Amino acid sequence: MSDQILDKIQRFSFAQLPVRGEIVSLKDSIGIICDQHDYPNEVRHLLAEALTACTLLADIIKIEGRVSLQLQSPSLVKLLLVECNHLGHIRGLLQTNEALEHLIREELFDFKEWTDKGQLAITIEPKKGQRYQGIVPLDKTSLAECLEDYFNLSEQLPTHIKIFADQNQAFGMFVQTLPQEADSSIGNEPSQQAFDHVVALSNTIKSQEAFALEHQDLLYRLFHQDEVSLYPEKAIQFQCSCSRERNMAALTTLDPAELMGIVEEQGALEMVCDFCSNKEVFNRDEIMKLIMAEADQGSVN
Ligand SMILES: [Zn+2]
Repeated sequence: MSDQILDKIQRFSFAQLPVRGEIVSLKDSIGIICDQHDYPNEVRHLLAEALTACTLLADIIKIEGRVSLQLQSPSLVKLLLVECNHLGHIRGLLQTNEALEHLIREELFDFKEWTDKGQLAITIEPKKGQRYQGIVPLDKTSLAECLEDYFNLSEQLPTHIKIFADQNQAFGMFVQTLPQEADSSIGNEPSQQAFDHVVALSNTIKSQEAFALEHQDLLYRLFHQDEVSLYPEKAIQFQCSCSRERNMAALTTLDPAELMGIVEEQGALEMVCDFCSNKEVFNRDEIMKLIMAEADQGSVN
């Protein structure tokens, strides 16, 4: 137990029920991501919820690449962006509309109000192959319920998503009926009945036990009569994909005259990552070199 992984996701299944599940716990990564910004607790809470949802989605979708959730609204939440890749690396950010910022301290966390008239998109970016984007209607009182509806409609499979989050940690559980073709080989209970049974039991979890218990203990507590098996855990951790090289590549897409203008005026050019707040400074010589290299490239082509 000494090398316990705190942030992890695991699949589970039942010997006799045509239902599959995923269970995720995020602890360290929530603190690391939120501490990079000066977020109020309610904002940390929403970001933790979104990171949990995205981690579940990435594991369910099972692609080699990246899955992201992006929410934009004219309400309090201007931009909420979370990502998870197949390696279990997550990152996220949340920006608020400044004119509405006072609401954060005066009102309790209210997903519907904070994201009113907004749009939520799921983007799937496989390393190889087509990028896919789906739009999730924001008409429920929580992010988990909105995503649950999306799955119910798009996959036509009864789906249940439960997420608990606070400013320091999060827990998520996904339960879904197995597709029909696999149905016949597992048990003989009708799928809807089996699904309802698993959902009813999973709804008995309280946030305190979800945060405190190990996955195996929690599943045993819920489903000990249902022959549940838990699959090996996959570690989840914060990791930002920003780098000096990527910043440089981004700079080459800008107007050289504008770049020089900034360097002449400010002595150097500073780029700050919106996700991790990492700062990269490029001095005058480096910018000159970059512009010259681009110009050479241009004359060759
Ligand atoms: Zn970064």
